[in-house]
Amino acid sequence: MLYRKSAIMPNCSICLKREATQTGSHLLSAFMIESVVGKRGHEKGFLLDDAPDFDYRSNTGAIPVVENYLFCIGCEQRMAYLEGYVCTEYRDKFKNARFGQNFSDSEITGQSWILREAGRVHPHAFTLLLASLLYRMSLSNKKLFADFHLTPLEQEQLRGILDAALPPYENFKVKIKTAHYLRTLDGNEALFDGLYYIVATYDRLHDETMSFNIVHPAFRLPYNMMFGQLLILFFFGKPRREAIYLDFFGLLGNWDVLTTLNGDGMPLKTIVLPEQSWQVMLANVRDEIVAQKIPGLIQLFFQEHYKKYRRPPTNEDWLGFLDLKFPPDQLSGDTPEVK
Ligand SMILES: [Zn+2]
Repeated sequence: MLYRKSAIMPNCSICLKREATQTGSHLLSAFMIESVVGKRGHEKGFLLDDAPDFDYRSNTGAIPVVENYLFCIGCEQRMAYLEGYVCTEYRDKFKNARFGQNFSDSEITGQSWILREAGRVHPHAFTLLLASLLYRMSLSNKKLFADFHLTPLEQEQLRGILDAALPPYENFKVKIKTAHYLRTLDGNEALFDGLYYIVATYDRLHDETMSFNIVHPAFRLPYNMMFGQLLILFFFGKPRREAIYLDFFGLLGNWDVLTTLNGDGMPLKTIVLPEQSWQVMLANVRDEIVAQKIPGLIQLFFQEHYKKYRRPPTNEDWLGFLDLKFPPDQLSGDTPEVK
């Protein structure tokens, strides 16, 4: 009997037409994770995992954010084209003084951060990139994102947007000129109705590997995400000025949420936080993750301790164990105590 590839290969999760033969698809854009794990092939950083015995100092490379057979080769290239554009026009220029004329800063009364408008980045291109990230993470069964799911309606909405608005793949290539592609996005603007988001980053960070890749499985209104140097709150539906929203990172403060909101084709705005505010956020995330791991960690600790020392552990033993698992010099933050 002949081997029939189509019998075992699912169809692409974006176009639904071609076979999903692509392997090694990154669930996060390479440029977003490279500050955390390093460039492809030279990974040096660490991804967090909430398993109690996960040691974030052991090199996991990019494996937790790579998945096979979700997309066809064409749709993978369509996403890579979009990522290339956002990387060149936003990531590479955003904090580079040589491109200062591409951005304009404004201060918000009473806030320690500035709001930077990226007038030359096509706002729908950025929205589309975020849509592709949410979609990819929602599809993934990788441990890092296994608990994260969009609702089926949201997932299908994003799939439709991606298939309609990513550049065309024809004759085994994506070859549309950038300016032409951006004009097609203008023509497709109705697709983006109802998608809103807030983006924040830091101005500088002395150690850029001190970052997390997290999409919170429970903080869904808005969806709370951090990818290396970007923090994103993503709304399906326009937020209201007075409403209280889920804010895992503690970003939202006493300002009008609408002044920092992206959507409706408005120029892309990014909150640029001072280093210290970003550090406080990272420490809070780290503490939260440590706290979530505590029940599993305690079991592991008792098992290991009895096996090794054959006596009940003391509080000092526990604190020493936690220091081993979460070295205090890696991130600031207090070590939790056993009550
Ligand atoms: Zn496809």
